[in-house]
Amino acid sequence: MIVLKTARELGIMKQACAISARALKLIGEAVEPGVSTAELDRVAEAYIRSEGAVPNFKDYNGFPATACISINDQVIHGIPNKKTIINQGDIVSVDLGAMFEGYNGDNAATYACGDISPEAQRLIDTTRESLYEGIKKACVGNRIGDISEAVQRYVEARGYSVVRDYVGHGVGTSLHEAPEVPNYGVSGRGIRLVAGMTLAIEPMVNIGKHNVKVMPDGWTVLTADGSLSAHFEHTVAITSSGTQIMTIA
Ligand code: MG
Repeated sequence: MIVLKTARELGIMKQACAISARALKLIGEAVEPGVSTAELDRVAEAYIRSEGAVPNFKDYNGFPATACISINDQVIHGIPNKKTIINQGDIVSVDLGAMFEGYNGDNAATYACGDISPEAQRLIDTTRESLYEGIKKACVGNRIGDISEAVQRYVEARGYSVVRDYVGHGVGTSLHEAPEVPNYGVSGRGIRLVAGMTLAIEPMVNIGKHNVKVMPDGWTVLTADGSLSAHFEHTVAITSSGTQIMTIA
């Protein structure tokens, strides 16, 4: 069931999303050679709690941390830990959210550690841009497939692949709600978008093939071919007066 949100609810959700966005930004600013993913996670958790919010990934299906931190060929769901150290040249995908007064925000971004290869930079830029291509299509009267196709078309035109095994989603009082928002598909298909929907749109893009595999830890998702992967996500609200990106710091 798709839950539509009232203007009052969107107001609260916007606060949850702003906290989520600031926590993400703080991690981005803390990415540097030598820092562990556990230290990055602590920065975000401390900030979210200082705002009276709750890190909503923590304990979600047993996930042990505030942020998913995934390096290089890791796509999503990397578990922060003291032994994983960020190195110069790495790309670091961070996904996190905050729950505030019962409503959830969810966002992600891929950060560069120092100087990265031109190919890695192009991947990051393409993934970020594909998110905005999808958001442009997230408006009243369009369908989910319009978002999906816009992302896929943009990514594949640049020679990359969109991950298919994981998708975007509705978000609200639950971190994951209906509908699913795939990053591949056909325009004109899928459910129609109406005012009051809140969606987490989140392209995951691989330089190589779209196939992924899960590490023995049961969480970390890697590209099957070892190619680099990037991930960007915003929570957006579809309203009759336009689509709002909620996860703005
Ligand atoms: Mg999400």
